[in-house]
Amino acid sequence: MQEESRLVLAGRHSERFAGLVNTPVFRGSTVLHASLAAWEDKKKRRAADEHGASTYGRFGTPTHHALEEAVAEIEGGYRALLYPSGLSACATALTSLLAAGDHVLLTDSAYAPTRGFLTRVLGRFNVDVSVYDPTIGAGIEALMRANTRVVYVESPGSETFEVQDVPAIAAVARRHGARVVMDNTWGTPLFFKPFAHGVDVSVQAATKYIVGHSDAMLGVLTCNQETWPLIKRTSQDMGMTAGPDDAYLALRGLRTMAVRLQQHWKGGVEVAQWLQARPEVEAVLHPALPGDPGHALWKRDFRGACGLFAVVLNPVSAGALEAFVDSLQLFGLGVSWGGYESLVIPFNPVGERSATQWPYHGQALRLHVGLEAPADLIADLEQGFAALARAESSNQQRRSA
Ligand SMILES: *Cc1c(COP(=O)(O)O)cnc(C)c1O
Repeated sequence: MQEESRLVLAGRHSERFAGLVNTPVFRGSTVLHASLAAWEDKKKRRAADEHGASTYGRFGTPTHHALEEAVAEIEGGYRALLYPSGLSACATALTSLLAAGDHVLLTDSAYAPTRGFLTRVLGRFNVDVSVYDPTIGAGIEALMRANTRVVYVESPGSETFEVQDVPAIAAVARRHGARVVMDNTWGTPLFFKPFAHGVDVSVQAATKYIVGHSDAMLGVLTCNQETWPLIKRTSQDMGMTAGPDDAYLALRGLRTMAVRLQQHWKGGVEVAQWLQARPEVEAVLHPALPGDPGHALWKRDFRGACGLFAVVLNPVSAGALEAFVDSLQLFGLGVSWGGYESLVIPFNPVGERSATQWPYHGQALRLHVGLEAPADLIADLEQGFAALARAESSNQQRRSA
């Protein structure tokens, strides 16, 4: 079956819910059992790890289980679990697989709060963190230690969009008995298949494209069979749970994710190519563009691209940058991404990164291309560049006056 069809069918059990197409929102904490025998039976099924055998709201409702089942199937993993945010999914994956005295290798391009969790929180528990160049590939061999338990990958990298050679890294990790944890938020379960590329645990900020409408926070983690018992145990030990309304919104988003992503992909490439040809632009960082350093790996391993990429402007005054950003009508100024709306946010990796050198000179902006018509987005950026030019020339007049 093709992906689009599986997205429509995965995790649905209409026969259990009065024939309804969608699994309804189940809100609940206490689960009642008709008899002591039924209670004992449920506990037994839970102990045997039967999916959906829940004795308490914290272990999920049918709404949660439907989403877990669907994501695990689409991503190609064994089982999935939900978390209150993408970051809590990242943090729980790492906590599950690491102990005091262990060493973890972290890509320099990781989402900054994930890096903060590792260094600030797990660092306090005597987990040793080394940061590596995301483009290291099989060269990661030289960094492996006897106590390296986890190699953390994120491809393409947050903000800077380096594509990693995940299969090469995973092959080395496997030889050394380390697990590979991947943040697959950019690729989504549709465009990158982590388990086919040697990953053990895949984390998603479902907040982004799975929810897809900027109206809920949620994390999903999918594991292979080997890591599942550890991840599940730790998630329960930490009391991880998510709201059923948010799980419902994510399930609803999932059904249309394939068509939305086609538009984000197409629009993103169109806007990125237009930017690439502009004199105001120093660089465009987008792996789907031919000529991007990560393009060959992206083509080899990914099935598509989402709408998130970065542009670096040629150096301009602070006032001109402000005029550009403030004049944009269709690109809202804000973090997060994956919704239907376009966004812009300035960033500066200098000071956040330690294993790589940022080679550019001007201001970097992260763009999310939403579902608006690409021609309108391009027109918006064009008038933005006109505002930038006006601010820059009045700046120069003031200086020469
Ligand atoms: C947003 C994001 C997260 C965190 O997700 P939240 O739901 O905001 O906690 C993790 N990884 C990446 C790559 C993200 O972009």
